[in-house]
Amino acid sequence: MAIQDTARMVSERIKDTEINPYEMMLQQLDLVREYTTIPDGIWQILRNPERTLEVSVPITRDDGGIEVFTGYRVQHSSARGPCKGGIRFHPGVTVEEVKALAGWMTWKCAVVNIPYGGGKGGISCDPSCFTRSELERITRRYTTMIYPLIGTRRDIPAPDVNTNAQVMNWIVDTVQFLSGESTPGVVTGKSIEIGGALGRHEATGRGVMFITLGVLQRLGIDVAETRIAVQGFGNVGSIASRLLGEAGAKIVAISDVSGAYHCPTGFDIDLVLDYVKQSPGHLLAGLPHSGMEEISNDELLALDVDVLIPAALEAQIAARNAEDIRARVIVEGANGPTTPEADLILGEKGTTVVPDILANAGGVVCSYFEWVQNIQCFPWEEKETDQRLGRILQRALREVWTLAEEREISLRLAAFILGVERVATAIQLRGVFP
Ligand code: NAD
Repeated sequence: MAIQDTARMVSERIKDTEINPYEMMLQQLDLVREYTTIPDGIWQILRNPERTLEVSVPITRDDGGIEVFTGYRVQHSSARGPCKGGIRFHPGVTVEEVKALAGWMTWKCAVVNIPYGGGKGGISCDPSCFTRSELERITRRYTTMIYPLIGTRRDIPAPDVNTNAQVMNWIVDTVQFLSGESTPGVVTGKSIEIGGALGRHEATGRGVMFITLGVLQRLGIDVAETRIAVQGFGNVGSIASRLLGEAGAKIVAISDVSGAYHCPTGFDIDLVLDYVKQSPGHLLAGLPHSGMEEISNDELLALDVDVLIPAALEAQIAARNAEDIRARVIVEGANGPTTPEADLILGEKGTTVVPDILANAGGVVCSYFEWVQNIQCFPWEEKETDQRLGRILQRALREVWTLAEEREISLRLAAFILGVERVATAIQLRGVFP
């Protein structure tokens, strides 16, 4: 069955408005099935997370009251190595979301061929309502509850939405007190001073840059002639903008929650970064830049550019606006910015979509470097990290691109096939215990 037919079948079953993230992950997985010879039993293993832990996380609020939150840690697969994946603090966290994110981590680590499986964790809570000491208590209690699952050789958390280096520092410290051992490799994304990796902060944006340049070169597009629109000017979007600007591309549109901005002659990204550093809420609002006009976020997505980099939220390119996209290439800096229905529409339009599991894998690759350095107690220089990151991502792009060309399929499907087959092979080689 052709990719379009299979995708159409899936899109008939699932509408953008009613997407359950785990269903979406399974449907992406099921698309791959047509293209592989993975046996039924192995397929059933791939469709189910290895472990799903739900924990109750009570904390004493600063006013003395007790509140109880629900947390999760899901280990989707450990077939290729310890589980790896971030921890999210957000009111929208559900077990279905965490299961989906854990699965995507499995495929992402396999696509870039690092020796990890996939995991993810989260607490359903609104961290903006916590004081710093409440945040510390909820982190330490959650860590204690998931302690039986995590470990340097078992399952290694990292930051995700609303968690950061400080939260990771508290996790390391809690694990150290519970285990009696110094184990910096139990999480990645820590502060540099206690074992974090130089270059980790920039790694995802740098990876987006490497992948974008690799795709432009394959499509025969001169980087100096390339106009790029970036949605989201946070960690991923701002760093990708700066590095692609340095590589010679023109960043003609940027946005954040405060609005979207268009400058056909190209933004001076250093000036924008200086502005954002000191602006209220570190937002783009009020940016003084010549030749710039304010536009809507939908207009940004529909601009006539060569490359569009969605680097903000999920489901930004959906059935409602996919027809309007004019970019020739989409590089998914964010996780899940394109819905399956939109993917189908973009495929029919001939848009080259570089999937998230490849495009934003720079973060997890650098997390892997941090873990390696922790295990070896031997920190690297930043230059070494950047060079190794480039090599790993360029190899992954080459493999995905070649498979897509050979089988005449989309890059997303090729990336999934590559990742899923690697995991299936690992399971088959190990055998099913007992
Ligand atoms: P961030 O919080 O630093 O930045 C997010 C940006 O998106 C902010 O500028 C925010 O204002 C903007 N934004 C939010 N809602 C928006 C909207 N409706 N329209 C336009 N802009 C909007 O987050 P980040 O770390 O840059 O992550 C961005 C995406 O990349 C997420 O999907 C995340 O899961 C993914 N990702 C991040 C990393 C990483 O290492 N940071 C790694 C892999 C994937």
